[in-house]
Amino acid sequence: MSIRKASVAAGLVASSLLLTACAPMQSASQAPEKAKNVIMIIGDGMGPQQIGLLLAYAKQAPNSVITDGNTAFDRIAANGRMGLSMTHANNNLVVDSAASATQLATGQLAGAEMIGVDKDGNSAESILEKAKKLGKSTGLVSDTRITHATPAGFAAHQSHRSLENEIAVDLLNNNVDVMLSGGLRYWIPESANDEQSAARQELEALSAGSVRIKSKRKDDRNLITEAQQKNYDLAFNRSQLAKADGKILGLFAYSALPNGITETQTKDDPARTIPTLKEMSAKAIDSLSQNDKGFFLMIEAGQIDWAAHYNDTGTMLHEMLRINETLNYVLDWAEGRDDTLIVVTADHETGGFGFSYSANDLPHGRDLPGNVFKDQQFKPAFNFGDVATLDTLYEQKSSYGDIFYSQFDALDKDQQTPANLARIVNAETGFDITDAQAARVLETEDNPFYTEGHKYLSAQTVPKMGVNGAFFTYQTDDNRQNLLAREVAEQQNVVWATGTHTNTPVLVFTQGPGDTSAPFGKVLHHTEVGQRAIEALED
Ligand code: MG
Ligand code: ZN
Repeated sequence: MSIRKASVAAGLVASSLLLTACAPMQSASQAPEKAKNVIMIIGDGMGPQQIGLLLAYAKQAPNSVITDGNTAFDRIAANGRMGLSMTHANNNLVVDSAASATQLATGQLAGAEMIGVDKDGNSAESILEKAKKLGKSTGLVSDTRITHATPAGFAAHQSHRSLENEIAVDLLNNNVDVMLSGGLRYWIPESANDEQSAARQELEALSAGSVRIKSKRKDDRNLITEAQQKNYDLAFNRSQLAKADGKILGLFAYSALPNGITETQTKDDPARTIPTLKEMSAKAIDSLSQNDKGFFLMIEAGQIDWAAHYNDTGTMLHEMLRINETLNYVLDWAEGRDDTLIVVTADHETGGFGFSYSANDLPHGRDLPGNVFKDQQFKPAFNFGDVATLDTLYEQKSSYGDIFYSQFDALDKDQQTPANLARIVNAETGFDITDAQAARVLETEDNPFYTEGHKYLSAQTVPKMGVNGAFFTYQTDDNRQNLLAREVAEQQNVVWATGTHTNTPVLVFTQGPGDTSAPFGKVLHHTEVGQRAIEALED
């Protein structure tokens, strides 16, 4: 037998064997493989660039706190599959967090800023609601507010993300078993604003003084007592959370939970009352996994987006460390299990972030031991960035938000000078600015985008953005933070393209039993990520 014939014959045998062996598999591949539990982890604003910041810090920073250089993203990428997903809203180039969460949750296209509604304006069933129908337990965890766009997209149906009072009612009506986040202000009656009211006294007692009691509701519904009547255990601090069991409503802040820098700084403080994102996630998994039929859980690291909107690189690094810690916990929990599909993605990229090389502070020549450089020095033409910058970013002591709102704005008006801003920035960050730079940060102009009655564009005078000002849409004092970012850009080797979101496709990391992660290992749109996750829910 010739070699060619032999290989053909062997091929025939092999393919008939394959056919036999694969017959049951083929029908199985038409019906996608299933998982008892689905955990979706969303880094808000976490584009490939933001993951790149974490990877650079973990693997290149001389003093990285991730001493083995191994991130949770390395782990899940090694265990499962990676895909790339487009995020745009219906008929748009770019998406916001509400439409993106809706598309991930329902598998259907949505319009910008809609919550749990399809592109035509109809209420759309979410993966959380589907899981509930299948008898599974459900949970939402976020370090922002439970009524904020990302968690809301999974369990509320409203025309606009700003309707947080209505979203709170939807979340409660939906009976989401475990809800852990901030945003108490949308859950308590308006009358609680009166210090003498019975509602106020009762809430102070329930919360043991852990959370500021102030309502943003326009009615007297007390969703906290309504939750109690629906058999929720309530938690307003860590010790209450530790004791809670079964259905849990945990609201640990008036608005958002602390930012990543504050979380890092207070983690080991025994007096800390607010749980970390990891602690909330652990509690949610603990409680939800008691259901024999399984669970669906969405965990959001929501403040990556906020740091990125402000172009605050140091804070963003701490936000990335927060999702890293949380994902590591989830991966540890899932280790050795074959019943849980984990999907990690972002809703969009924020800021158009990147380290970049520059003409500033050009490198000096230095000697290299290699042959090729024996007669000349190694001297690249440009500044490609020093890895020590990563440690300096980590060492930032306050977020840009805290620098302006908690420190600078707290000064008497006549003390709000460039010199005082420079003093604060230089004390709180490792990237010093001069008084002249601080003066540029504080410069203002007539609002070039003034729009009467607009939530964000109605200020007459705004920080002077100059180039690309239209892309810095939060034209309140917030834009001072973006201006500060521009002043330290050269020192950080960091550039930011925008104060809003970009359409950069985001990464999708999945691991799960059997081949449940296979449908995610390709180029997708977020509606498909949602559909595939829904299909993976085991009956
Ligand atoms: Mg969000
Ligand atoms: Zn955003």
